[in-house]
Amino acid sequence: MAVNRTPLIAGNWKMNLDHLQAIAFVQKLAWNLADAKHDFGAVEAAVFPPFTDLRSVQTLVQADKLPIAYGAQDLSVHDSGAYTGEISGAFIAQLDAKYVIIGHSERRQYHGETDEIVAAKVQAAVKHGLVPVLCVGETAEDLEQYGPSAVPVGQLETAIAGLPADVDLVVAYEPVWAIGSGQAATPEQAGSVAKALRDVLVESLGAEGAAATRILYGGSVKAANIAAFMREPDVDGALVGGASLDIDEFSAIIRYQK
Ligand code: PGA
Repeated sequence: MAVNRTPLIAGNWKMNLDHLQAIAFVQKLAWNLADAKHDFGAVEAAVFPPFTDLRSVQTLVQADKLPIAYGAQDLSVHDSGAYTGEISGAFIAQLDAKYVIIGHSERRQYHGETDEIVAAKVQAAVKHGLVPVLCVGETAEDLEQYGPSAVPVGQLETAIAGLPADVDLVVAYEPVWAIGSGQAATPEQAGSVAKALRDVLVESLGAEGAAATRILYGGSVKAANIAAFMREPDVDGALVGGASLDIDEFSAIIRYQK
């Protein structure tokens, strides 16, 4: 089947950049991309700021019609109510955010998010019209014990159970050992796990849904290695942490040439 997936380069800011810094960053990023005549249709660029920045980013992006999508880094499984400190998908959707990251390894590790919680969050995102950027990936110990794809495949199967075949979904394969370590997976490793994840999508969503779903690689992506990842047929973009905080580096990643 012919596939035509728009690559997505997504910047996960984590707990960095307050709302004033976010405004300056997004303005400069848009300026950089305009300078390079960035074709938003050819490569989609997105930023994932902290919750407190989202309203400011929305205002800027909409006022200046900037070719930059944005999303949140997490959401609650609940819609509203007595859940102190939680943020509902409904609130995020109200800010016209397109995406929400779900199941990042830092949430799994520091906030005890299980595969079941991640699955409930995916359902909550879909319910509110947000596109989940669902993160899966194995630790170094998992890799040694189970090999490269068993853990991410299992995480994906649990997280997408029961989703409709036409769901708008992004999957991010992020080996935990590659995150923030400077030691990225090889393009071949990323490509082969992405292929295994694509097979799960075929099983769950059918051939058409699987072909339409973008699979990102994440873990120490930078301008110098992005092109090699993008040459892998099942890798459709990147989830970038550290390098997404450097405007020139992130711009260069978005402007990768295969
Ligand atoms: P990194 O982080 O690019 O700094 O390795 C990736 C991520 O955690 O999404």
